[in-house]
Amino acid sequence: MSADLVLRDVRVPAAALAEGGRGEPVRVDVAITGERIAAVGAGLPAGRAELAGGGALLLPGLIDNHVHYREPGASWKEGYVTGTAASLRGGATTIGEIQNNAPLVETAEQWRAKVASLRGRAANRVLAYGCATRDNLATVRELAAAAPGIKVFLAADGALEVSERSALRAIFAEVAAVDGLLVVHAELGPLVRAGVAQWGDRAADFHRARSPEAERAAIDLCNELSAETGARVHYFHVSSALAAEAIRAGKARGLPLSGAACAHYLLFTDADVAARGALLKCNPSIKTAADRSALRAAVRDGTLDVIQSDHAPHPRAEKLERPFRQAPSGIPGADLFLSLWLELVDAGVLTLDSLVERGCSGPARLHRLSDRGRIAPGLLADLVLVEEHDWTVAEADFASKAKQSPYVGRRLRRRTAKVWVGGRLAFDRAQAEDLVAREAAAPPPLEAPGADAKGGCC
Ligand SMILES: [Zn+2]
Repeated sequence: MSADLVLRDVRVPAAALAEGGRGEPVRVDVAITGERIAAVGAGLPAGRAELAGGGALLLPGLIDNHVHYREPGASWKEGYVTGTAASLRGGATTIGEIQNNAPLVETAEQWRAKVASLRGRAANRVLAYGCATRDNLATVRELAAAAPGIKVFLAADGALEVSERSALRAIFAEVAAVDGLLVVHAELGPLVRAGVAQWGDRAADFHRARSPEAERAAIDLCNELSAETGARVHYFHVSSALAAEAIRAGKARGLPLSGAACAHYLLFTDADVAARGALLKCNPSIKTAADRSALRAAVRDGTLDVIQSDHAPHPRAEKLERPFRQAPSGIPGADLFLSLWLELVDAGVLTLDSLVERGCSGPARLHRLSDRGRIAPGLLADLVLVEEHDWTVAEADFASKAKQSPYVGRRLRRRTAKVWVGGRLAFDRAQAEDLVAREAAAPPPLEAPGADAKGGCC
């Protein structure tokens, strides 16, 4: 029986073909039947459709396990349609989505409603996280059993912040009881508030106000609680040398930890934040050049074993027409996810093999998704074809509603050409404008601004 589609003559990183693979990408054909990869090899039989790869790079679909689409509750900022379109442009066929605006996902019932609301509106695969607050200890165990992860904020507004040891320990124990995964925003609230009181909320001092010490203290505390309860902990958006070292030390003790890196902490420093203001305002803050170097080393040595975008869209007016102090935190990063990390490959931070491990097979293992993360027969046909293309980023390149970006004007050398989700062509650069046009033609119901009560994260 012939395959539905054969991608002819593509280059696949060795680590995508076999666990632990190393070396030059291998030229192969990839056959797809239905939603799965049917065969990988040289000289495969003709398919019912064929695509000439011409030696282009083919990657497993990336798993970006940290984005905010802000639907429901704040879809004027993004929404599933534009958010998932942005992620596809960035090569992410699976994403982890965190509802950090009201209504929060605090019970299994709310989580099921959230998952149901995605149906027909998300163009990629969505892992919807739940969250732990000061109010939902009674329901967090059931939630942790259902959801792919439980987000804990150690520094946030209102009931979202859980920074007190005993309250945090109770949450860790509940999640560990069902072998759930804690995904942690690691900054300790009292230290963040002390830092802001000391340094103010100015761009030039933001890295001091939201300090490396606040981040390390949160990680030290969560490491201890992981040791006491056995809970699996994944640290989001690690931003400092101190934090990377604390994770390295915890892993060396054998604790079930993992850590994630975001491109903006590896590409910018506090000097950029001082120069460009709220465009680069995010939590945790972007730290110093020394921190940037340490983070690059931590990605290289695998201390940070996952990459993520922390796509955090806000409207231009909120981001740029307010004083720095009042501007919301967060950088939109979904559209450029793969292009930026390929830039970091060129910079020597990663190899193509370690990119596959940090962006595909690593997060698949973390989230126990055995059906994706590599390019092998039987796995889901979630695939990204990359094109070599020298380009300068413009606002028109973003499917996200948040088009103001610190990357506008940046020259990049590669980008996604085509993306398949379960064998279906979900993004085609040649027809990319169609995705944006579809959103314009059928806009989601727009919630009025003003409900953005909770947050403090991004
Ligand atoms: Zn975030």
